Amino acid sequence: MTAFDTLPLRPELLSNLNTLGYTSMTPIQAEALPSVLQGKDVIAQAKTGSGKTAAFGLGLLHRLEVERFCIQSLVLCPTRELADQVAGEIRRLARGMHNVKVLTLCGGQPFGPQAQSLEHGAHIIVGTPGRIDDHLRKGNLQLAQVNLLVLDEADRMLDMGFQDTLDAIVEQLPKARQTLLFSATFPEKIASLSARLLREPERITVESAH
Ligand code: ADP
Ligand code: MG
Repeated sequence: MTAFDTLPLRPELLSNLNTLGYTSMTPIQAEALPSVLQGKDVIAQAKTGSGKTAAFGLGLLHRLEVERFCIQSLVLCPTRELADQVAGEIRRLARGMHNVKVLTLCGGQPFGPQAQSLEHGAHIIVGTPGRIDDHLRKGNLQLAQVNLLVLDEADRMLDMGFQDTLDAIVEQLPKARQTLLFSATFPEKIASLSARLLREPERITVESAH
């Protein structure tokens, strides 16, 4: 069991983790966070419930420049339910920081209000590939300042047929970025996706859930 305060995390994140009752890191967090905080690309494989959200959520909050009001991180999830969960967890983790704006963009919800929210801006976008691609095509979404991309549950996104959509989205991102890929399984198509999208990734596998 490793305490979070062994990491070079910003103090407001550490004190909020304390408030949330997150005393020690889960195994995937302990394995992944040091590399994530160093800005490395990471492929992490671990079961559901192992704390993957904080493994990338703390990484993106740590590197966020709150005073620079533009989209700096993009998190792609397979479904609206998962995107809502991830956005909720990032908001909880961000409580110690002031005015971090997290916006969800998912299908099955009206388009207009999302476009309006985008006009007001955000630091972090969490959403499903189809809807994010729609907003990109309509010119509602500017991703030129994104320096961190997260593919959460990447195996499920590929199972759902999002491969071409993921490629289309990534084409709109700066090449100089950090990319983190999380997956419960590691089939061949994940290997080829990561070969296309990640650079010299560190590969981390955690077998047990806790
Ligand atoms: P995964 O994405 O791997 O399925 P989650 O990120 O959703 O897992 O985390 C599962 C649960 O564990 C969540 O309720 C989360 O708040 C909690 N959790 C995550 N990390 C910690 C930690 N270090 N200490 C205590 N609880 C944690
Ligand atoms: Mg998860």
